[in-house]
Amino acid sequence: MKEYVNKELDSKIFIENNVYKKLLMLQKKCCQFETGGIIIGYYDEECRNAVITECTNPPEDSLGTRNHFFRGVKGLKSLLKKKWNEKREYYLGEWHLHPGSSPTPSVTDISQMKKIEHNPKFNCKEPILLILGEKYNDFKVNLILFKDNKQYFYIETE
Ligand SMILES: [Zn+2]
Repeated sequence: MKEYVNKELDSKIFIENNVYKKLLMLQKKCCQFETGGIIIGYYDEECRNAVITECTNPPEDSLGTRNHFFRGVKGLKSLLKKKWNEKREYYLGEWHLHPGSSPTPSVTDISQMKKIEHNPKFNCKEPILLILGEKYNDFKVNLILFKDNKQYFYIETE
């Protein structure tokens, strides 16, 4: 598993290998348009460390443009229900691709995540944003936790 850490929160986020491989392949294809979906997984017993077990494909009703991704909702409800019933896994946050650019969150990215943080419908007070991008021809994953109106960046450990 890929491991990312935030020292301030003393917290880690893990990405399962098959999920990481999927992201890597997406990045290599280097689509012209943004794509994305939701992140599914679980927290450990202390609710300190998260494990990402799936980055879903874009729902059918999503729309990707050159610099933005509008995630749809089609099929997500039943998928999340299935995940919960079968594996006790749930919604952890959002992911999207920044084709050909760095994985730095845009102003829109941040405001959207803040909306999720404060929207009881999502039932997710600490949503994670995963952005996939490249910098200097280097594949890069950016992981940000939104909590108490602040953003916490996670750094890959090696
Ligand atoms: Zn973005």
